[in-house]
Amino acid sequence: MAAQETVDHKYVYDFAEGNKDQKDLLGGKGANLAEMTNIGLPVPPGFTITTEACKAYLTTGAEPAGLAEQISAHLGGLERAMGRKLGDPRDPLLVSVRSGAKFSMPGMMETVLNVGLNDDSVVGLSAQAGGNDRFAWDSYRRLIQMFGKTVCDVPGEEFEHALDEAKRAKGTTNDLDLDADDLRALVDAYKKIFSKHTGREFPQDPREQLDLAIKAVFESWNAERAIIYRRQERIPADLGTAVNVVTMVFGNLGPDSGTGVAFTRDPASGAQGIYGDYLANAQGEDVVAGIRNTVPLQELERIDKKSYDELLDYMARLEGHYKDLCDIEFTIERGKLWMLQTRVGKRTAAAAFVIAGQLVDEGLIDLDEALHRVNGAQLAQLMFPRFKLDHEFTPVAKGIGASPGAAVGKVVFTSARAVELAGEGEAVILVRRETNPDDLNGMIAAQGILTSRGGKTSHAAVVARGMGKTCVSGADELDVNIPAKKFTVAGRAVNEGDVISIDGTTGKVYLGEVPVMPSEVVQYFEGELDPEQTDDALVKAVHRIMTHADARRRLAVRTNADTGADAARARRFGAQGIGLCRTEHMFLGERRELVERLILSATDAERQDALAALLPLQREDFIEIFREMDGLPVTVRLIDPPLHEFLPPLEQLAVNVAVAQERGEDVAKEEALLAAVRRMHEENPMLGLRGVRLGLVIPGLFAMQVRAIAEAAVAVTRGGGSAGPEIMVPLVGAVQELETVRAEAEKIIAEVVGDSGVEVLIGTMIEVPRAALTAGQIAEAAQFFSFGTNDLTQMGWGFSRDDVEGAFFWRYLELGIFGISPFESIDREGVGRLVRIAAEEGRAARPELKLGVCGEHGGDPDSVHFFHEVGLDYVSCSPFRVPVARLEAGRAAVETTGSDSR
Ligand code: ADP
Ligand code: MG
Ligand code: MG
Repeated sequence: MAAQETVDHKYVYDFAEGNKDQKDLLGGKGANLAEMTNIGLPVPPGFTITTEACKAYLTTGAEPAGLAEQISAHLGGLERAMGRKLGDPRDPLLVSVRSGAKFSMPGMMETVLNVGLNDDSVVGLSAQAGGNDRFAWDSYRRLIQMFGKTVCDVPGEEFEHALDEAKRAKGTTNDLDLDADDLRALVDAYKKIFSKHTGREFPQDPREQLDLAIKAVFESWNAERAIIYRRQERIPADLGTAVNVVTMVFGNLGPDSGTGVAFTRDPASGAQGIYGDYLANAQGEDVVAGIRNTVPLQELERIDKKSYDELLDYMARLEGHYKDLCDIEFTIERGKLWMLQTRVGKRTAAAAFVIAGQLVDEGLIDLDEALHRVNGAQLAQLMFPRFKLDHEFTPVAKGIGASPGAAVGKVVFTSARAVELAGEGEAVILVRRETNPDDLNGMIAAQGILTSRGGKTSHAAVVARGMGKTCVSGADELDVNIPAKKFTVAGRAVNEGDVISIDGTTGKVYLGEVPVMPSEVVQYFEGELDPEQTDDALVKAVHRIMTHADARRRLAVRTNADTGADAARARRFGAQGIGLCRTEHMFLGERRELVERLILSATDAERQDALAALLPLQREDFIEIFREMDGLPVTVRLIDPPLHEFLPPLEQLAVNVAVAQERGEDVAKEEALLAAVRRMHEENPMLGLRGVRLGLVIPGLFAMQVRAIAEAAVAVTRGGGSAGPEIMVPLVGAVQELETVRAEAEKIIAEVVGDSGVEVLIGTMIEVPRAALTAGQIAEAAQFFSFGTNDLTQMGWGFSRDDVEGAFFWRYLELGIFGISPFESIDREGVGRLVRIAAEEGRAARPELKLGVCGEHGGDPDSVHFFHEVGLDYVSCSPFRVPVARLEAGRAAVETTGSDSR
């Protein structure tokens, strides 16, 4: 066989030839079977056909040259090692054919067991098993069933019906009650089903069985459900799958045989212990199929102590070797334990933290590695409010957890009704088959969204995630009837107005109101749970890993906060200042009237009057915020939105004027307002008179704000505190804009600050592409840059978020134009490039330039890594995202190599 392989490309590897790092070539299953073989665990001998063979097959439609010979050579080796030949009528070698891609993929072909059995070798198998006819025929019927279903697309139910029929005829529900004769008859029935659907007899040639099964695995890579799964999970389409051919061992040889699965720790909570299921006298697929009830793995100790002890020993060795939670499949054949699979096991967010902490305690990994093994998405999940679940609540349906959170509300079926009820102060859950752009208002009004169709990239899922709204999509047990305003699930009708609860993390749907509570992790961040005192393993682990992240990170984390209350919470969550304090809310509420006066002012004096009235109010706002952020920097953005946003809508004013006229009332003020609104109307307000442009057009507006900020800082400092104001000018595109604002501001600051010792920085947002491209010039006039990546994304792509997210993003995601919404994670190649250019050129012009980001990307895990890479000083995000940003900033600092994270 060696000669052949030196000529041709090597497509087949014995288990002894591979290792766990060859997942690209051998797939996850194959690489780990090789690894277990090499560390001396009992793996039945076998070989792996590479993903390259699969790719070659899929591109050319034919097996690559040399593959058939290499399979023969490795099969020959297997036969010699086992002393048996594949399908030998007297003493057959049987194998399983198992798919296994780099990433485990439920959309792929499953396994075919017992390949090599036919009408003759079934007799030999019985003899091999000491005349156990029952076992041999049971194995044969399994082959026809699995081969038929997975290789030849025979509908699986037909086999299941035949099996049920045989059991019914026997008067039993347990397949173990079927004897050899029953199973022989079942084989005949199965063969008929097979030929009815395939138009051919069940193949009797063992090698043909093997070859067909291998091809079927290759082809399953392009099966529709595999493609859909890959798209959803963003697994590249060109990886291909490997095929593992493994000597059969038999768990169905009698009560001293069996099969099971195990985890080395609890994948749900991370707790240490033995977690798994065991099924005596069965082959592997029975465990998953739930044909008989499994017993907890602990019972194996009683059934077969020797195998149990051995299994625990292997589990400990695997953990020590992989340094992580392992998930294991095994079979016991007449008291002999065989390992059939292992992999680093999937786990919940909570278990990820707990296990990482435990592994540090056990000395298997260090804290850097622990930090690497958790992520911000998991932490965010742990911070969502959760349902307080006890035995009274059982879910009625389970869909896809499309956007996390716990939402409770009255069911509504239309957007209009959602808006209406929400307007009356009701919490509502919008239920649809699927949503479309017309549902947007309803989605905004609802607490949560529930759909019966669609996956993670459906309209509902994408838009809900964008809004941070709880969403369960694709709950297909729901029969939604919009015209009748009801849905049915589990035999019950739910009408408009009935209360339901949906869990966007688990995808579960409950009838009635499930109580909600803040998560333990939030209680910890709030300072309500002392990590030293509690015995909550999760809180302890989170505390430990967060502490390490803080020690390691280079990026500071600030928060976006407009009020003292937000600032205080963010500070508890670890914020090191405010990166964005918006000032527009300071023009709302009872101050609206002043703002109207400002806008309507006909003379300088009137305007100055209005501004003078606003000044003390703004000063008070800033004082409160500076106090909460005592000792930390606070970046205040001067007013940004177009002023007409502060006026009532046109239609409303028009109606008011008409009504007042009708009544013969004085309409002078209304008319003036109406005229102003008409005058100020903009086609594209996002690109209109806003930001720095306002400051340059309306005399005294920015000056008032600058004065309020400076006076507040002085007041706090004189009161014994320490304020660190940073005045930020929005929407600058040219250095001249900034210079003009700055000249005026510096005068005011100098006058107000005097000898108080207060230092006020002046800088700008970088959110217009032109600003990024002329950052070198702008830096001459700015002490800091703060990237406004929301606007930079909007203007970089040329679309407005409000208009596009609901309209077409789902389609772009489906087509793969975006991997993820550019508002969620920064578009590194385009918008990110603008950030990089501005950071580099800004620093070149002014080395001490402070750089930060205040768009929502500041709290997005992937974006935080990018901001670390381009060398920003800090990120700023909403208070709830602060811990996520701290964690990811720490991870970015320890991940010098780009190793994949889970
Ligand atoms: P999946 O990827 O769906 O877990 P596997 O290839 O692991 O599929 O096969 C499923 C089950 O089939 C295994 O857990 C094991 O119980 C059984 N199995 C696979 N190969 C063999 C074999 N060579 N001998 C005995 N049982 C096997
Ligand atoms: Mg498996
Ligand atoms: Mg902006």
